[in-house]
Amino acid sequence: MIPFLDLKAAYDELASEIEAALLRATRSGWYIGGTEVDAFEAQFATYTGAAHCVGVGNGLDALTLALRAMDVGAGDEVIVPSHTYIATWLAVSAVGATVVPIEPSAGQFNIDAAAIEAKITPKTKVILPVHLYGIPADMDAICALAKQHGLLVLEDAAQAHGSAVREKRVGAHGDAVAWSFYPGKNLGALGDGGAVTTQHDSLAQRIRALGNYGSAVKYYNLEPGVNSRLDPLQAAVLSVKLSRLDEWNTRRQVLAQRYLEGLQGLPLQLPNSPAWAKSIWHLFVITTPQRDALQAWLQANKVQTLIHYPVPPHLQQAYQALGWKEGDFPHAEQYANQALSLPIGPQLSLEAVDRVISLVRAFFQAH
Ligand SMILES: *Cc1c(COP(=O)(O)O)cnc(C)c1O
Repeated sequence: MIPFLDLKAAYDELASEIEAALLRATRSGWYIGGTEVDAFEAQFATYTGAAHCVGVGNGLDALTLALRAMDVGAGDEVIVPSHTYIATWLAVSAVGATVVPIEPSAGQFNIDAAAIEAKITPKTKVILPVHLYGIPADMDAICALAKQHGLLVLEDAAQAHGSAVREKRVGAHGDAVAWSFYPGKNLGALGDGGAVTTQHDSLAQRIRALGNYGSAVKYYNLEPGVNSRLDPLQAAVLSVKLSRLDEWNTRRQVLAQRYLEGLQGLPLQLPNSPAWAKSIWHLFVITTPQRDALQAWLQANKVQTLIHYPVPPHLQQAYQALGWKEGDFPHAEQYANQALSLPIGPQLSLEAVDRVISLVRAFFQAH
């Protein structure tokens, strides 16, 4: 069996370092905040080039708390991609604001920066691009537009740890950048975790307080916050894994390159990483109308694949009340029907990728 992503193999590679870090954290006698969290936050801020990193409980909270800190709420509009994981939209809904979805252009996964301006209204407050599948969105274009219209930019970087836009790492382009450390992400914890990076002192302070009951000084509450903090045990693990992030991303890039070359000339759409982008291949997603048959064929040949995502946010039951229907966002719908994520990960071998390539080629020869 070729697994989609082997988290056990990832753990095994770093087991002795992770276990030492966990032992250090458990023996410290300090179980909320403290030196492990401070150290990871400082390391991740340095890594991303941001002035601040605030650890939170998960990626959805990172997005939600950043929006709250930007004073986004009822009556405000937030521009989001039509094609994304639903958490991007849920954060906007959680603060009571309205999602304004924008499609990717044909052949791309990320929001079409050129289509944003037409959707800006007097109610628009934030542009929320997602660096989907580890391919960065065009932050230069998006930030220029935001500046021109007096809007804030919040990036959903849950799939983009270590990616870069024109040599500048994702993490400090927009006003705030939300991260998830869900185990399957490129920088993953052994459970839930998240963070916001930002250049703004005021946003960092507010997000930190909001995730700590709205309190900056213990037992003095500035506003009604929540409890969403990065666990020190997870922070200890993340410090170990951050030291390997670039190396592990490079391994993914080698595998992605192999797929891109090996799958040339087939009747499918390959993922497109723009020339100015450093993509870190969180997922390797191909698009074909024969997706379901191809997935079944790979499964029959012991290759595990996944679909990201089978239902676009606008057609989810959760958003039924908004009244979207089929045909409203055709690109997002096409990906739901045709996208297939092939195995990729730092512990996957080149031989395994070659096996997947020959199986995909054999499928199209027979169809
Ligand atoms: C994983 C993910 C999230 C949510 O992160 P959690 O830590 O699971 O809450 C948000 N946005 C995108 C694009 C994601 O992939």
